[in-house]
Amino acid sequence: MTEIRQSQEKTYAVQYGDRRLPFRWRLLSVDGGKARIHVYPDGLVEVETPQHTTLADAKKALLKRARWVTLHLTDIESRRAEVLEREYVSGETVFYLGRRYRLKIVQSSGERHVKMLRGQVRVTTPDTSKKSIKRSLYAWYRDRANDVFARRIAMVGEQLSWIKETPSWSIRDMKTQWGSCSPSGAILLNPHLIKTPTRCIDYVILHELCHLKEHNHSQAFYRLMAHAMPDWERVKADLDQLSELYLSE
Ligand SMILES: [Zn+2]
Repeated sequence: MTEIRQSQEKTYAVQYGDRRLPFRWRLLSVDGGKARIHVYPDGLVEVETPQHTTLADAKKALLKRARWVTLHLTDIESRRAEVLEREYVSGETVFYLGRRYRLKIVQSSGERHVKMLRGQVRVTTPDTSKKSIKRSLYAWYRDRANDVFARRIAMVGEQLSWIKETPSWSIRDMKTQWGSCSPSGAILLNPHLIKTPTRCIDYVILHELCHLKEHNHSQAFYRLMAHAMPDWERVKADLDQLSELYLSE
């Protein structure tokens, strides 16, 4: 299973007024000195404290700067809301295979289709309501996903000795996963993956295909991954970083 924005690291939290502030805690390798607090662009709060300090020290340090952290987070959240709120009008950005395209809406008297044209994704439709555009665009994404994923599965599978024939797969909308592999070996891929770079698609496919041999996240599993895609961790990081943009419908 390829989780969306999976965080391997444990998070903690402090309560500040009526707000819960989750954070990641790291111990620095230096002795003494001040705690450091970072707020990352994606809203992740990280507290670094000197060696030999405790979780309680980290919480105390965060609470001391809680006002500053909260201001930052509020700012990030309002900017994010803007990014995520789609109107489905001409000029908006849409993603396809990791590239940005301009959405262009063309009202027709009956024709209905979606085409890629000179850096645009052009939706031609008699009904230019948000709901209708969203539906047309989504249908187009699914269509492209079926086509592209079939090719990528064949290509990625070709390099894997345990794949003798194309495994059965289908696309399914999933809120928390890019892909999954059932115990019986059925692979599901998130159609929104079509918005991400081909390398990210390959990474998710590879992850699921490796599960056909290793049904867990054991060392043996990660060895298979590393053998087929030595830089998979970097690809995963790219995918994680932009997942919010890709998943905004
Ligand atoms: Zn997995």
